Amino acid sequence: MKSPFQSKLPDLGTSIFTEMSLMASEYQAINLSQGFPEFDTPEFLKSAINQAISEGKNQYCPSSGLPDLLHEISELTQRCYIKDEARRLDALNQITVTSGATEALMVAIQALVRPGDEVIVFDPAYDAYEPGVELCGGTCRHIAMNAPDYAIDWSLVELAINDKTRAIVINSPHNPTGSLLSQSDMEALQKLVIAHDLYVISDEVYEHMTFDGLRHESVLAYPELFERAFVISSFGKTFHCTGWKLGYCIAPADLTAEFRKIHQYATFCTFTPAQFAVAAMLKNHPQHVDDLAAFYQQKRDVLVNALKASRFKVLPSKGTYFVLVDYSAISDQNDVEFCHWLTQEIGVAAIPLSPFYQADVLESYHQNNKVLRLCFAKNDDTLLKAAKILCSL
Ligand code: PMP
Ligand code: GLN
Repeated sequence: MKSPFQSKLPDLGTSIFTEMSLMASEYQAINLSQGFPEFDTPEFLKSAINQAISEGKNQYCPSSGLPDLLHEISELTQRCYIKDEARRLDALNQITVTSGATEALMVAIQALVRPGDEVIVFDPAYDAYEPGVELCGGTCRHIAMNAPDYAIDWSLVELAINDKTRAIVINSPHNPTGSLLSQSDMEALQKLVIAHDLYVISDEVYEHMTFDGLRHESVLAYPELFERAFVISSFGKTFHCTGWKLGYCIAPADLTAEFRKIHQYATFCTFTPAQFAVAAMLKNHPQHVDDLAAFYQQKRDVLVNALKASRFKVLPSKGTYFVLVDYSAISDQNDVEFCHWLTQEIGVAAIPLSPFYQADVLESYHQNNKVLRLCFAKNDDTLLKAAKILCSL
């Protein structure tokens, strides 16, 4: 008789993004839940990928990435974060193109985490970190960040570090809160990782979306921090093409060598035509990246201004394409119940925040927090339509 299958991830269910997007479509609600743009990727990119396909660029490319794309990523990174002219990224040995940031996160975690290791994550935490750590036989140590500013308390981080701690995962601009790490956060992180000989995984997929003149603090701008870091980003966010699943990881050569050992067996190489297209886009239209912050700031402002007439309390969004709203003046329901009701009865889908927290703190979380996430990567008329509905509550 076949014995019951023993899951390696027995507590893991379907992601909240899948659940809420499915519910939005079933109930024909305006979907401000899962984070993806409603507008299309630039025309240039669409013709560039078509051109690559018709020119027959349809076979495997080098496992680490198309050399032209590696070069363009290093130019972009150099321009955005590395002010010291003498410091040059080594495109061929420090950058790897991946199948989305998701693959890069999984591969970096597999490269780093050994059985028994602990990895520090900050709640609310993006859902892709913990399953990878658990598959390696490690565990996550969760440190909560709290409303309204969702800042990291570095004294708590210091207390959580012990001889099993292997790495710290940071994510700035932060999904789901829209908060940013500051220069002093980066300095505090650098001090701790050097003192305790730790590694860093830095999820920077929203790097080009920061608002109100605030700057993204990349690990790439801190040479000593970069020495022990995997820095991960995604063209899905930058070029409105989340379905292309094109991301990358920048790490020092020794870490990159380990990363590539796993990447070559996770996927070998990433979709070749998209690599040609994005390399051409970065080369011919560098302005797109520079304009992204203003583009999304305008969207944030459309939604935030329209919600001023509502009973939702809007929390500050300094980056990403998300904003949190507190609904405690409207309902006593917990956030999952409220999001289900909002989607099914009211016609607007949102993401509850509690699934981003450690399961064993949820009871107290629910007592103190009534917050949900709205995605404003949508056309203005969609945002205004959703806001009008939300203002009626
Ligand atoms: N990290 C964060 C914080 C994200 O929000 C996302 C996707 N939305 C990813 C990683 C994954 O990016 P990709 O779609 O390129 O795999
Ligand atoms: N990162 C996207 C979000 O936060 C969702 C990505 C996914 O569905 N896996 O909504």
